[in-house]
Amino acid sequence: MTFNDFNFDSKLAEGLDSMGYTKPTPIQEMAIPVILQNKDVIACAQTGTGKTAAYILPVMHKLIQTDHRHLNTLVIAPTRELAQQIDQQIEGFAYFAGISSIPIYGGGDGATWDIQKKALEQGADIIVATPGRLIALLAAGTTVFDHLKHLILDEADRMLDMGFYEDIIKIVSYLPKERQTLLFSATMPPKIRALANKILRDPQEINIAIAKPAAGIDQQAYVVYDSQKEKLLDHILKTYPWNSIILFASRKETVKKLDSVFRRAGIAAKAFHSDLEQSEREEILRAFKNKQVNFLIGTDVLSRGIDVEGISMIINWDVPPDPEDYVHRIGRTARAETTGTAITFVNEIDQRRFQAIESLIGYPVPKKTLPLELGEGPAYTPQTKRKESFKKNGRGPRRKHFRSRPSR
Ligand code: AMP
Repeated sequence: MTFNDFNFDSKLAEGLDSMGYTKPTPIQEMAIPVILQNKDVIACAQTGTGKTAAYILPVMHKLIQTDHRHLNTLVIAPTRELAQQIDQQIEGFAYFAGISSIPIYGGGDGATWDIQKKALEQGADIIVATPGRLIALLAAGTTVFDHLKHLILDEADRMLDMGFYEDIIKIVSYLPKERQTLLFSATMPPKIRALANKILRDPQEINIAIAKPAAGIDQQAYVVYDSQKEKLLDHILKTYPWNSIILFASRKETVKKLDSVFRRAGIAAKAFHSDLEQSEREEILRAFKNKQVNFLIGTDVLSRGIDVEGISMIINWDVPPDPEDYVHRIGRTARAETTGTAITFVNEIDQRRFQAIESLIGYPVPKKTLPLELGEGPAYTPQTKRKESFKKNGRGPRRKHFRSRPSR
């Protein structure tokens, strides 16, 4: 199958051509025809699968057929980085089609607010917004949704994790009831189903393999003590071939600490975390995309929001608490059918978390032997770790307790 099979408007086809898109990805093959038929869609697809083009191309095709003088499409995304990235993709596709889009996100100064407000007042075909800033603009009475035809929720599971449920419901209350709603999510927990039941109408469900890392990623793990991690990193940087690296750590304190450790060691890395100003974050991402910087250290804020091709290696300094974050982190490499390496450092405490990741992805990640000069690491015994915790706490893994609903 090729993109020609969708019979997209020639102006859109030209945009696709100029961006080097020839063959649709599986999610695109499945979602585009359904969206073109104006059906609501609930799709399970992670980043890296081509999900953005899957929802935005059919919507843009329909948009070109209208007189597009009104705000036609609202895309809601969890983070400003993702919002910017979606907006950039739209800009690329829209180059020949004369479709306008505005990214709306918080974090800037008063001037950014004014620019966004003005842009909204002057009108655009598509808005790509984070929920918080959109709510603020709605409260300021700026946005008119009377002619809105499409609502798209991207990374819906992440938005709910970030506590945006109420904001989403509030935003939806401003929208026309007659609209097409598309919900994209990397996972399908019950709370996503509940949201879908509330805001989608008779949706078609599209599912590609849930949260599985791309086949092109060479995944490896080292079982280490914390005290061995710095030397192990040094060994990896010297022995593995790489041209650009992202090193993830779960806490921004760790990112800051590593930043100063690397500085002292003469490694030119840049740290990316939520304490930085928006302009600093943008500057770092730009430098990384332009290859002026080739080593980033970041928290999971970075795991969702960055789409850079040619990242050859991901290093997980620790194991993320949420198994799906692992898939997001390592999905930064091997984008769009290339290859890459993802190496995770697993200390004694993180072993249980790592086992949860292995059960999510459905296979064990190969454990590499530590280089001789580092000495022995701990054994990989996640099961024992569970028993130890049981003995220590006098109880098993924490369970959720469900109470039956009180009768009215
Ligand atoms: P996404 O899953 O939307 O974050 O997309 C992941 C990356 O794959 C982005 O850099 C897209 O530009 C790229 N991409 C998506 N679909 C295609 C395609 N059909 N052909 C080539 N690149 C694609």
